[in-house]
Amino acid sequence: MVIQDILFEVKKFRFEEPMKIAFATIVDMETCIIKVITDEGITGYGEAAPFPYVTGDNLETVVSVGKDLRKSLIGIDPRSIGAIHRVMDSMYAGNTAIKAGIDIACYDIASKSAGVPLYKYLGGNDPHILSDVTIGIDEPERMAESAMSWVRKGFSIIKVKLGEDIETDAARIRAIREAVGDEISIRIDANQGWSVRDTVRISRVLDELGVELIEQPVQACDFEGLAEIRRRSDVVIAADESCHSIYDASRLAAMRAVDVVNIKLMKCGGIYNAIKISAICEAAGIRCMIGCMGESTLANLVGMHFAAATDNIRDVDLILYIY
Ligand SMILES: [Mg+2]
Repeated sequence: MVIQDILFEVKKFRFEEPMKIAFATIVDMETCIIKVITDEGITGYGEAAPFPYVTGDNLETVVSVGKDLRKSLIGIDPRSIGAIHRVMDSMYAGNTAIKAGIDIACYDIASKSAGVPLYKYLGGNDPHILSDVTIGIDEPERMAESAMSWVRKGFSIIKVKLGEDIETDAARIRAIREAVGDEISIRIDANQGWSVRDTVRISRVLDELGVELIEQPVQACDFEGLAEIRRRSDVVIAADESCHSIYDASRLAAMRAVDVVNIKLMKCGGIYNAIKISAICEAAGIRCMIGCMGESTLANLVGMHFAAATDNIRDVDLILYIY
């Protein structure tokens, strides 16, 4: 089986409500659906959802780099996923969204040709997973209302975006905790919005409020800051924007900088690299989360298959209210 063609289709999705995070307010998402066509009649579907703030690419680069990669990938067996990545990495550094889109489509072909769902193809057994739901930054009362509406829909884990001044951020979590009660898990994501000092201070309050995890409190490049926070805080510390690659994962592990790494297919270039990052983390005692950045249901379902197949993916963060 070989790749005969790769097609790119641009799509736009709107959020039901704007999603405010520490460094941006996101109203809609542009994404690119990838179709990899083979000579044996199997078509693989993938998605490349660039998120310029984090991955440095955009829809134009996704399509133009994708069309360039297409020329070199035609004729290769899509199930030879290592070879596919070697070709892509030899032509372009970075550009992880388009690499993820092609990777996902190739895994789709491989699992379809094996006649099993993707999670089984990846070695999984049980398809059940439990995802949190994400709430954007807003006034404390509105965030508490939003959290309650998700709890009423059956969600038991709420992920809250923070990363502004720590007094208001603490008030946000206080309001949410009061609204949802003690049984609901709350994790927070500061999206690089705090300093080390701020994080250590607010983490004491968050710990008292039963917050289970603080994600990416400080700048992506500040591995030393993450390590210092982890030493000085009782709350579990997670890296998101700090971890794009196997090299980041390896450094975070060596520095004992975090307890959790949030893997995202669009950040790391797809399932092939996500498996490696998870393995590095597992060996270092770091548990992993699978997250998203506003992909459509296609890529998020792939994330769910990956989670169902991977023992070290303990947390799933794949529900954003997009339509
Ligand atoms: Mg995050």
